[in-house]
Amino acid sequence: MVLRSAARNVSRLLPGGRQLGLYMERTFTCPHCGEEISVILDLSVSRQSYVEDCEVCCRPIEIRYAAEDDALIEFSANTTQ
Ligand SMILES: [Zn+2]
Repeated sequence: MVLRSAARNVSRLLPGGRQLGLYMERTFTCPHCGEEISVILDLSVSRQSYVEDCEVCCRPIEIRYAAEDDALIEFSANTTQ
């Protein structure tokens, strides 16, 4: 999956999780297991939704977000059912 490998590369560049350019790290609670996990969001895309497996319990999470003026204005992480 292209997005996932891109996110890994960005993670390596951003050990502190700070925002750089249009990428931003966002932490949230997994709706399945309740563990805190993080994703890298590309804020150059105004609206996006995709499914990512939880890195702890490996169950699918639907991530939706919206960005405006390079800032995150909406974010949600839900089960896919
Ligand atoms: Zn989980």
